[in-house]
Amino acid sequence: MGRLPKWRRVAFIPEVTNFKPVGVSLRDLARVRLSVEEAEAIRLKDLEGLGQEECARGMSISRSTFHRVLESARTKLADALLNGKAIRIEGGNFEMAMRRFRCTNGHEWDVPFEVMVNQPPRLCPTCDTLNIRPTQPAGFGCGRRGRMGKTAGRGHD
Ligand SMILES: [Zn+2]
Repeated sequence: MGRLPKWRRVAFIPEVTNFKPVGVSLRDLARVRLSVEEAEAIRLKDLEGLGQEECARGMSISRSTFHRVLESARTKLADALLNGKAIRIEGGNFEMAMRRFRCTNGHEWDVPFEVMVNQPPRLCPTCDTLNIRPTQPAGFGCGRRGRMGKTAGRGHD
């Protein structure tokens, strides 16, 4: 039996998950793959400015694991930025909170992060309006378990 995946809590998934240098065909680019938990580590530490202890607690992992995830993420970002590589945020083992959407007619519904990443909703499932937007991401701990594993990224390249 393989090792069980280590779940990390993630409260946020970026809406844009593909980045590439201007003017270069994607085909000719090397690509860096940032896992969703690596993106979350960057978000908590570098964007929100939380302390490492807080970040680790937020993601339900030890401080040393958090440090490792963060360092890996930073190295990948630096590699992409300085060596002109494309970045794709996908995959990883994480516990997903639902992302809540709201339309201009007041309907609200939840979309699993997994769906968000692969195919974000375009219209309201109740009234079909295109005027929808995500509400603030739900906090930690109200999540639903899911996984974007190796199969999630298959076939995209
Ligand atoms: Zn609606």
